[in-house]
Amino acid sequence: MIIVMKHTASEEDIETMIREVEAKGLKANVIRGTERTVIAAVGEERVAGIGSLESGPGVDEVLPIVAPYKLASRELKPESTTVRAGTLAVGNGNIGVIAGPCSVESEEQIVSAAHAVKDAGASALRGGAFKPRTSPYSFQGLKEEGLKLLAEARNQTDLAVVTEVVSPDDVDLVSEYADVLQIGARNMQNYRLLEATGKSPRAVLLKRGPSATIDEWLLAAEYILDSGNPNVILCERGIRTFETHTRFTLPLASVPYVQQRTHLPVVIDPSHGTGHTYLVPAMARAAIAAGADGLIVEVHPSPEQAASDGYQSLNFSQFDEMMCACAIIAGAVERQLGSLS
Ligand code: PEP
Ligand code: MN
Repeated sequence: MIIVMKHTASEEDIETMIREVEAKGLKANVIRGTERTVIAAVGEERVAGIGSLESGPGVDEVLPIVAPYKLASRELKPESTTVRAGTLAVGNGNIGVIAGPCSVESEEQIVSAAHAVKDAGASALRGGAFKPRTSPYSFQGLKEEGLKLLAEARNQTDLAVVTEVVSPDDVDLVSEYADVLQIGARNMQNYRLLEATGKSPRAVLLKRGPSATIDEWLLAAEYILDSGNPNVILCERGIRTFETHTRFTLPLASVPYVQQRTHLPVVIDPSHGTGHTYLVPAMARAAIAAGADGLIVEVHPSPEQAASDGYQSLNFSQFDEMMCACAIIAGAVERQLGSLS
């Protein structure tokens, strides 16, 4: 249920209604919008007497939330959310571009990538320190050493750092170094991990699982929101289909579809979504034209030598060229591409 408060409702009215909601065994989440304050009463909605909340002080109306996700839904919060983390801003016309290598390999690699993507106009640096790999014999990442190298790259460039966390046990450690915690596609339904990142002060980038429906993806976001973290960025990174020519199938229709149902920003990953360097720039341009709130792109100083995902990584000049084209498209759809200083 959403309890929509009147414009004239006082702080005391809001407090009274929070207590009423809690007395019915529901959780009260207060969303203070520019237009109105609403209280989301989340939990078993068929509790007795819920309709009578409409006669509470300062209440305008009480509405059901039809979507299976509540806090993530536009029904609850009609205005789009902007997620900010250091130099990164995504949502409401700000297109954030997160770029860098698939994995952190060495100081020279990550620091040179950070400078190059910054010069090309990226808003944040990506790089995996904890890598979830299909094979246990593949490079698993430099772990804490990789986090330290990311922190060094941020020191030198000021760019916000986006890096993956693969286990609930590592959330505190990764939160010490990262500005945004990435939850990888393989972990989208790791509910303990979602809850743990929901308790972190850092923003979360939640990748769509390759076989997850959009409702399952948004319900995964709901876990993070319900655990207390409002700063969630959704990331469409492609799904598994019968097609084998591209690594995954990248459904760009997810962008306008998801934006209609949730207030959370959605970014596109054209690197994992295609699996081929030569397809990445076209999909990045198409994503922006479709209204994506951002991109996450793999960029490596020498992709042919990358420890992971070199076949889908751009080199520095390819990234620079992609950014110039994306800036033109962003202007055409009245959005801004870039970073916060
Ligand atoms: C990554 O970003 O390098 C990664 C492992 O992505 P995904 O979880 O989407 O496969
Ligand atoms: Mn990768």
